[in-house]
Order: sequence, then structure tokens, then C-alpha cells
Amino acid sequence: MLIIMKQKAAQESIDKVIEYIKKRGFDAHVSNGELHTVIGAVGNKIIDKRDIELLDGVEEVIRISTGFKLTSRVFQAEDTVIEVNGVKFGGDYTGLIAGPCTVESYEQTDKTAEALEKSNVKILRGGAFKPRTSPYAFQGLGEEGLKIIRSVADNHNMAVTSEIMEISQIPMFLKYVDILQIGARNMQNYNLLKEVGMLNKPVLLKRGLSSTFEEWLMSAEYIMSGGNRQVILCERGIRTFERYTRNTLDLSAIPVIKKLSHLPIIIDPSHGTGLRDKVAPMSRAAVAAGCDGLIIEVHYDADNALCDGAQSLYPDEYNKLYQEIKQIAPIINKIID
Ligand code: PEP
Ligand code: MN
Repeated sequence: MLIIMKQKAAQESIDKVIEYIKKRGFDAHVSNGELHTVIGAVGNKIIDKRDIELLDGVEEVIRISTGFKLTSRVFQAEDTVIEVNGVKFGGDYTGLIAGPCTVESYEQTDKTAEALEKSNVKILRGGAFKPRTSPYAFQGLGEEGLKIIRSVADNHNMAVTSEIMEISQIPMFLKYVDILQIGARNMQNYNLLKEVGMLNKPVLLKRGLSSTFEEWLMSAEYIMSGGNRQVILCERGIRTFERYTRNTLDLSAIPVIKKLSHLPIIIDPSHGTGLRDKVAPMSRAAVAAGCDGLIIEVHYDADNALCDGAQSLYPDEYNKLYQEIKQIAPIINKIID
């Protein structure tokens, strides 16, 4: 249930409404918008909305028994902007993340990061625990990989994002990463979502391979209902009948999500297409469509990468793309630093 307070409702009235719903077994999540304060009452108790409508300062009560609440634009009209290492995602900003699919060695990660620093990359990606389709494929370096990416990122003044796969890894990840990436295969790992929802760390939540927008936002809802509001949604392509590309990159996610939710949405054209020569065109299209960021796989020696080399850009290709999207963004009033 969303309780929309009247414009300029007194703080005392707001506090009373919060107290009222808490007494009846609901959690209260408050969003202070420019015009209205909205209180999200989350819980599964029964309450008559007319009783709340009678409380002082309440304008409207919207019952949303199923579906997303805290992720919804109704709960928060203004865009959520998430900042990591000076890079902003959401609102007027299009933030950039780049780096190898997988941390293979110190040298490989450092050479890639060194080149990317010249293109102003401030957030480095790189998987240490890899969810591979085959159990025989390279599974990642594990904690050693996290140590490497942290130390490389520190050398180049970068932040780190890396994929977490299970709850037991949380204490380890908190030591090394700045953004917790939850991959497509774990989008509906509800236990993991609940746990990261209790952390104070940004979460990059990828869309599941066959997930609808509603399912994706419900997964974000799991995180937000725990109190963590720093969720970045990432469209990374969905499975369709088309086999020419690895996935079908659904750029309609940008306007759809922006209408439904205040959360930033970024695009992963690397996994979205699976083909190096498709990454730049789809990145340009995503920026033109108003995405709040891009996450792009880059490897200094892409043809010899242990994982996803075919979809990884070389650093000079990334630089060319960076120059192009910097020109596109201002046309739709977005800022790329
Ligand atoms: C990745 O980013 O390396 C990855 C495995 O992505 P996804 O979860 O989108 O497949
Ligand atoms: Mn990859």
C-alpha cells in the first residue's frame, strides 16, 4: 500500500501515519519527493485503507497488494541517482563500467585497466566467480581474483564490480567490491536478494535470461524491501528464438523501466549480443534511448581471453566508442563524464 501525503503535510502528520501503520504490523518506507511524501506500507496484514485516508495530512491511499511498490514511480517520482567513485547512474547521468569478463591474472587485469584509465573508466568490472554453462569451463579465480581486481583498481583509482553468487560469499565480497553484481542466473535467487537487501552497498541486478519486466522489478523489490535502495537494473539480453546473436538485447527495457520505476537502468551490450562488432552500435543506440549507464567487456588481448573474448572490445575500440557516446548523450540531455 502506498500512502501519498498532501503537499506540505506537517512532519507530525507524517510521523503519526508511520506510527499508525507500524502498530498494525507494517514496515514503513518513506520517500520524500519534491511535492509529496510517500509512505510505502509493506506487509501482509489486513488493513482498511479508508481508516488511513481519514488520518491527518493523507491525500490518497493506493492499494498494491501484488506487484512492485518501492521500486515503483508512484512511490518515488524522482529518478534514483546512484554514485560510485564519482560516477553517477540515473537522472541526468549515464555512468560507464568496463573491464574484462573474468579476472584471469594480475597482468591481464592490470594491462586492461591501464588502457581503460586513459578512457576515463572509473569502475572496473571483472568476474572472480563465474557462472559457466559447463562445469568444465574456467570457473574463475575465486577470492584470489577478487584480491587481484581490488588491487588493480586501487592502482588506477577505480571502483570494482564483480558477480556474487551465494549468501556465504557476502563477507568476502564486502572486503573487495564496491558494487555487488547479481547475474542473470541469480536474478531469482530470492534468499540472496533478501540478504543483499540488508546491506549498505549498491547492487547491479541483471535481468534474468527469460524474465519479464515485472519479474525483474519484483526481484529489485526484494532488495529494496530489506532497506537497500541502491539498486541498478541491468538489461543484458533475453533468450528468444534468434540464434544469430547470443541473446536479444531488449532496448525497449529503457523506456519501459523508466516509466514503471525510478531506478537507474544500464545496458550490457556485450552479453546482449555476444559479438564484438555489435557492441558499439548497440551501445550508441542505448545511449540515444536514454539509458543510465553501460557495462562493457574489454580485454587487452580479447582474442585470447579465457571467457567471452568474442564479445570483448579491445581498449582502442572502447575509446572510440567512448568518444562517440559522449557526443550522443548531450542530444538527449544526458551527461557522460
Ligand atoms: C557477466 O557479466 O560476466 C555475466 C556472467 O553476465 P550475465 O549474468 O548477464 O550472464
Ligand atoms: Mn562475460
